[in-house]
Amino acid sequence: MLVHLRDIFVSCILIFDFLVRIINLCCTMKCTHEKINILSEKSYCPDCGALVENKWYICRCACCGVKRKAVLLFGNVVPEEKFCTNCGSKEFIVEEVKEINFIDINFATLKKEEVKQPLTVNFAPIQTWITVNCVQNGRLLFGACK
Ligand SMILES: [Zn+2]
Ligand SMILES: [Zn+2]
Repeated sequence: MLVHLRDIFVSCILIFDFLVRIINLCCTMKCTHEKINILSEKSYCPDCGALVENKWYICRCACCGVKRKAVLLFGNVVPEEKFCTNCGSKEFIVEEVKEINFIDINFATLKKEEVKQPLTVNFAPIQTWITVNCVQNGRLLFGACK
């Protein structure tokens, strides 16, 4: 009976370990870049190292052009309300706001977009300097010893 309980306990630990790994994997795969300062235009995420650009978006009614409050839904910019309060239309367009102002900030939503950097392979040889420090007659000399 005791052995049986121990087996259950061990398998529970294994399952728990497996779940923790999966959660960790999901977390590392999808970083939310939450530490990025929203006031900076672009910066590197301290959690994942990706270059992240802060982009503000607003939604506009495609029918009458009125601004509609934008929200992020699964990474997509969508209007908060289903229908335009001005004309009742469901259609909308998403507009990027280049410079956010006090009026737009009430309508806008912030999207932290990763900047895809072109892969640059640097084949330049790495130069290594070897400095030999010698103490000669009590003085520190840089360079090769004589
Ligand atoms: Zn990140
Ligand atoms: Zn409308």
